[in-house]
Amino acid sequence: MEDCIFCKIIHQEIPSKIVFENDLVIAFEDLNPVAPVHILIVPKKHIKSAMELTEDDAKFVSEVYMVAQQIAKEKGIAESGFRIVNNCGEDAGQTVKHIHFHLIGGKELGTM
Ligand code: AMP
Ligand code: ZN
Repeated sequence: MEDCIFCKIIHQEIPSKIVFENDLVIAFEDLNPVAPVHILIVPKKHIKSAMELTEDDAKFVSEVYMVAQQIAKEKGIAESGFRIVNNCGEDAGQTVKHIHFHLIGGKELGTM
């Protein structure tokens, strides 16, 4: 999709530090990390938010969690723990309108 920063990353039109990629998802380092590990896991389909998901998109969401497990092991946070965050809409502070999941860990995270 034109003018979508994550679609541009997916198509490698702008640089990013990619840590994983397959046909369904891409994962790359967040530009402004809030913890020692902060990876964005992004479905390759341009879905605007969690509210736009359909039954057919289930494969993208399950793949996000499978990839999160793998990256957590690689980054050494599988045992210590981590958080997977999806911001949806204005009140949640969603700034990029292409669904994405933050994988955050490597320090004690505050309670929500
Ligand atoms: P959200 O607030 O949930 O929409 O999160 C968007 C995230 O994308 C923020 O944590 C940003 O730091 C991150 N971000 C924005 N642009 C880029 C980029 N070009 N490369 C990597 N991360 C980015
Ligand atoms: Zn997009």
